[in-house]
This record gives sequence, C-alpha cells and structure tokens, in this order.
Amino acid sequence: MVGLPLSAGKFAVAEVMSCDWCDWSDAPEDAPPCYLSVTFEPSGRYSAHMVRIGLTGGIGSGKSTVAGLLAARGAVVIDADRIAREVVEPGTPGLAAVIEAFGDGVLAADGALDRPALAGIVFADPEARARLDGIVHPLVRERAVELAAAAAADAVLVNDVPLLVETGQAGSYDLVLVVEADLDVRLARLVERGMTEDDARARIAAQATDEQRRAVADVVLDNSGTLERLEEQVDRFWTERVEPARS
Ligand code: ATP
Repeated sequence: MVGLPLSAGKFAVAEVMSCDWCDWSDAPEDAPPCYLSVTFEPSGRYSAHMVRIGLTGGIGSGKSTVAGLLAARGAVVIDADRIAREVVEPGTPGLAAVIEAFGDGVLAADGALDRPALAGIVFADPEARARLDGIVHPLVRERAVELAAAAAADAVLVNDVPLLVETGQAGSYDLVLVVEADLDVRLARLVERGMTEDDARARIAAQATDEQRRAVADVVLDNSGTLERLEEQVDRFWTERVEPARS
C-alpha cells in the first residue's frame, strides 16, 4: 500500500491486488489467467466531485475499447496492466532492476524485455516470481498513485480492473461499469487478436460469470454489436450517470 497527498490535504492510497500469474508476463497457455489491478481506498478523502469508476468485464469483452471511449470524453484511465509494461520499458530503472535480478538473458536483441524468456523463468520458479513481483509491483503502485494524484479534483477516474469481481473490489468505486459481449463474439475477437480458441475458452472459464459481474454492476454495456452501438451506450452512461455524479 502506498499513498500520495492530493491537493487540499486529500490523500490517495493504492494497493496492487491479485498478482499471481500476471497477464503482463505472458502466462503460458496452461497457467491460470490473472491480472494486475490497482484499487483505490473508498475513503471519501477525494473531492466529492471526483467520480471513481471501476471498469470490468471478461477477457475480450471490450474493456480497453470502453476505456478509450471514456478517455476521449476526458476521463483519466488507470490501466495497471499497461503501467506494468511501461515500468519495464527500455531505459527505465524497472528494466535495469529486472536485468540485475535475472541477467541479460531476459533482454531481446532490440534491448526490450524478452517477455517469453522472463515468463519461462518465473513460471517455473515461485521464488523468482516473487522477486519479479517485488520489483514490478511497487513501481506499478507508485505510478498508479501518481496518476490519480495528478488528476483534477473533479476528474473522472477510470480503473480498468479485469478481475474486479473475482477480487471483491466492487465497493471501491462510485460506479461499477461492466462490459459484456456474447461468448462467440468474444472468442472471435480473441482469435482475431492471435489467441487460440482453446486458450480463450480456458481463460473465460476461469473468470467470473456474466451473472456474477451483473450482480455488482451499476451499469452494463452490451458490446456484442458494432463500435458505433458501443459508443452510443458510452455516451448515455456519461450523460446519465457520470455527469450527474460530478455535480
Ligand atoms: P482483455 O481482457 O484481453 O484486456 P478487453 O476486454 O480489454 O480485452 P478489448 O481489447 O477492448 O477487450 O477488445 C478485444 C478485441 O475486440 C480488440 O481487438 C478490439 O479491437 C475488438 N473489439 C472490441 N469491441 C469491438 C466491437 N464493438 N466491434 C469490433 N471489434 C471490437
């Protein structure tokens, strides 16, 4: 848990949750899927006008797409998986620390992190995994809190939390926004993105069900259709739920 002061004496606290088999290190097909996520304390220490949205949905449902649409409307998006990749980009202290811990063998020819090579080490060795987590997680927490602290007092803060339901974080947000899409649509989109259908099915089966997500949702978006259809729903969500919550 780390914290940073916000303006006017307010304070943000972030905690990284559920980090076994993090998605960012490219879990092999037989590994259970899991994701980094950062949760913010529902303490009321934020301005009454800041709206904290927990965005979730099953793998391939369209969370990143919705996050992008919300960002286009001015939301500040905190995506822990993305941050976890950023903190080990070439030239970062994070990558230097990973090389110091695991050697040059985890570097690709272009100087970037060789994720499959690193995954090969950490998935076979829990101690190595813990060492890697010990490097990456504090950097992710620090960056996530920095982003939240830099947001305006009336910002719309969107946390992309794939395992929000599985990790019991629904209470951490003012609004829980769930993205859904039909199973066959999700499978097709994941296969299109390069995943095997078997892997996609296994990951979907290991996650919460649509019913479990709906049970904690304030709003459910249906992303089985076109992007235009999704955008209309995001517009409506913004107008009917986000704007009123800010005023
Ligand atoms: P993950 O759980 O893997 O992070 P996600 O829930 O963030 O996935 P996206 O990455 O937003 O899902 O979407 C999955 C794929 O489907 C992407 O390639 C995206 O471009 C595509 N996609 C999302 N929504 C639509 C849509 N309405 N029409 C067509 N393609 C879509």
